[in-house]
Amino acid sequence: MDNIFQIHRGWGELVDYITQYLGSIRERRVIPDVKPGYMKELLPDTAPTEPEDWESIFKDIEKVIMPGVVHWQSPHMHAYYPSLTSWPSMLGDMLADAINCVGFTWASSPACTELEMNVMDWLCKALGLPSFFLHHHPDSIGGGILQSTVSESTLVALLAARKDKMLQLRVELNQDVDDSVLNSRLVAYTSDQAHSSVEKAGLISLVKIRYLSTDERLSLRGDTLKQAIQEDRRRGLVPFLLCATLGTTGVCAFDNLSELGSVCAEEGLWLHVDAAYAGSAYFCPELRWSLDGIEFAHSFVFNPSKWMMVHFDCTAFWVKDKYKLQQTFTVDPVYLRHENSQAATDFMNWQIPLSRRFRSLKLWFVMRSFGLKNLQAHIRHGIELAKLFESKIRSDPHFEVPAERHLGLVVFCLKGGNALTQELLRRLTRSGTMYLIPADIHTKRIIRFTVTSQFTTTEDILKDWGIISKMASALLVEQRVADDAGVEALLGQLHLHWLKRPS
Ligand code: PLP
Repeated sequence: MDNIFQIHRGWGELVDYITQYLGSIRERRVIPDVKPGYMKELLPDTAPTEPEDWESIFKDIEKVIMPGVVHWQSPHMHAYYPSLTSWPSMLGDMLADAINCVGFTWASSPACTELEMNVMDWLCKALGLPSFFLHHHPDSIGGGILQSTVSESTLVALLAARKDKMLQLRVELNQDVDDSVLNSRLVAYTSDQAHSSVEKAGLISLVKIRYLSTDERLSLRGDTLKQAIQEDRRRGLVPFLLCATLGTTGVCAFDNLSELGSVCAEEGLWLHVDAAYAGSAYFCPELRWSLDGIEFAHSFVFNPSKWMMVHFDCTAFWVKDKYKLQQTFTVDPVYLRHENSQAATDFMNWQIPLSRRFRSLKLWFVMRSFGLKNLQAHIRHGIELAKLFESKIRSDPHFEVPAERHLGLVVFCLKGGNALTQELLRRLTRSGTMYLIPADIHTKRIIRFTVTSQFTTTEDILKDWGIISKMASALLVEQRVADDAGVEALLGQLHLHWLKRPS
């Protein structure tokens, strides 16, 4: 066992390696050039029987792992939404990993629950969310919790809303109806732009999800929801939940929360708000316009693990009424009871799994190390760079920006049509110089360009734009040559036809 105890000697070496990795990440190819199964031949078939020394494990990082890594921290990573890390975040998790408590109940590690409650209150205030989401507020029965993902939080919200509606229905019907019968009558709503995690929550819960169409800005409006609710009630269904999105995955569109919220209030629907990416923007008061109507929300979720530089996993989820969560998830085996069960918060009753990590440490370290001032500056910097990229796209007549830019996401396409846009994306991906992904706006294929890293500079953006515009020009020239060749061939055929025509 000697070398197990000696392995902490690798600590300094690994920290140096991480420093070097993050410091020089700009130079790495963002997208790896490997094929499925590449690792099989780099590893032995079975685990070693004898212990290996740290040096040989360390050597394999560059040999086995790095060739297959997408460098999400690179300034040239523009795919998806950001998934940022930072030193304070990593230090927080280092401590959490060393403590490695499993904070399912307050008693299982009081600091784990208490820090989470306090930091979630800090975050709630820093984003300008309503005070009914606070743990520590005289008029609040709500609170925040860290979950693993937005997907899981949306499922949690759906399950809580379903439980609440079923309890109401049971009272109204005043008869013993099986839960499966009640479940089959429920219907939830979301927009046709919503993330697939809403669909997945419906699949798991066997609840019908209806996808509502959006307006010309890809925003779900109150009238559309109202009409759907009326139609479904006439069909004997029971509407119970709306999942609204602030910052959709495709183009970062915003549903109209104030219109939707008042419809939900009138019609008795639970309003769940998914602000997975956009949530971090609310550190900046000038970006809070899309929160109009948040006072109607029953739950709100966003990912500090995206733009806020708290590394994955870290999802902040708030509910207005914690008892509605607890009535959905509470179990009470004797081995989990403790003396303070009544007075304390046991987060195991707010979530699906039992066990939970000490995630709030990294959030705490980030909020303290950066301060709200620098978190705001980081968000504003990302937006400025996205505006710069947008201005470059708009200045080139071959390109189009088919949807309004919001926050750090710019979407664009070639005016020449879907096939050309797709081909440009294919060539950019093959070059490995930057990572971009496609999306669709109705039938139009678009490319998403998100400014992600906190280290992205104006030069990085200009370099990426240079590559994109050069590749697009080459592609357009090729297409023109191909078109000309096609026209010539056609003219040739016509000429031949003319010569051969009977005189
Ligand atoms: N909701 C939206 C709007 C998203 O953009 C995403 C991912 O980017 C998700 C949900 C899924 O987040 P998670 O991976 O935390 O489940």
